Amino acid sequence: MSHPLLPIHRDRIAAELADLATFSDPPSPGVTRVLFSAPDLAARNWLQGRFREEGLEVRPDAVGNLFARWIGEDPDLPAVATGSHIDAVPHSGCFDGTVGVLGALEAFRALRESGFQPKRSLEIVVFSAEEPTRFGISCLGSRALAGRLRPEDLEALRDEAGTSFAELREGAGLGHLPLAELAPPRYAAFLELHIEQGPLLEREGTAIGAVEAIAAPAAYRIRWEGAAGHAGTLLMPDRRDALAGAAEGILAVERAAKESGSCDTVATVGQIAVSPGALNSVAGSASFGIDLRDIDRARRERVASAIHEAFEEIARRRHLELAWEAIYEDPPAVCDPGLVVQILESAGRFGLRARRMISRAYHDSLFLARLCPIAMIFIPCRNGRSHCPEEYSSPAEIEAGVRVLADCLRGLAS
Ligand SMILES: [Zn+2]
Repeated sequence: MSHPLLPIHRDRIAAELADLATFSDPPSPGVTRVLFSAPDLAARNWLQGRFREEGLEVRPDAVGNLFARWIGEDPDLPAVATGSHIDAVPHSGCFDGTVGVLGALEAFRALRESGFQPKRSLEIVVFSAEEPTRFGISCLGSRALAGRLRPEDLEALRDEAGTSFAELREGAGLGHLPLAELAPPRYAAFLELHIEQGPLLEREGTAIGAVEAIAAPAAYRIRWEGAAGHAGTLLMPDRRDALAGAAEGILAVERAAKESGSCDTVATVGQIAVSPGALNSVAGSASFGIDLRDIDRARRERVASAIHEAFEEIARRRHLELAWEAIYEDPPAVCDPGLVVQILESAGRFGLRARRMISRAYHDSLFLARLCPIAMIFIPCRNGRSHCPEEYSSPAEIEAGVRVLADCLRGLAS
């Protein structure tokens, strides 16, 4: 089956990415766009204008997710959706998330200009707060859509300034939309175009990554309790040194991940707090968090239990109290095998080199996977860098991703 070559305008996407980047808190260079901040609200307005110009039907939901729909010939069929996020962590770049939103818009335009009329409706979703900057919870919008965040917990969230989510969404003009009506959309499929945020595609000269699985994190908060004391007078046999126990614990975390049998298991302790925290005091308590990720939930759970058991042994031997708390344990997602093949075949049709890969960062797609078949299209980014002003994908690289996205949407919505 031959298709007309879709008229994708790489300069138009590049210009719109640059326009969107101007909605940012200082300092520049770099983009800072935090949920419901003034730049975020202005960017949402600007984006809705672009969507309406294309004749899309725009509606927000109660948590600030934005939907823009191209109504198909059979509007009763479940729609085919695509999209990503436009919020940006402080001092970051202008491609993370935005490529999947403005790329989707360009894909819709190209399809329309080529004369395509979808049978199923096509919908762009702009997810609210993919980044955890404001409330410490990532993928807030997609999590709520997937029913993984209870409305009452959401409303009670407070940012560092003490402002509640309820107040913020009121200020964003969403207060009249009841949270209880956050019904999950029924989609036939969801595709997310995103920069890789890693170095593999660029290193190999590969244009398209078809994501087969998305790793998901579990996070735990640990507190070791011993007895504080004088570094000179408290003799070694009498000590209950919380920091020494925690140090052994950190090495146990590293060992458990290394010994899981798969390089897809990663575990990190990236911060620690010690009390009283003086050069000449034995530590009375030490607390740290563990970030544990895998694409296989059962393996991740085995590693978490191995770490927990090792901690208990250390605590017993050192006469320490141990408190272990799970902060979250998000389920990893497997992408739909049929959609993955469709991405690879589409890339092949356009002569683009493509490969299967795993997403080690997580995305809104992780939560959409609980609602419908999903897959992700990755494009290269320079030196694998992301969440920094150096983040960059070229107009040609973006165009390739948009071409594959548009082609897949055409196939799915026909
Ligand atoms: Zn992102």
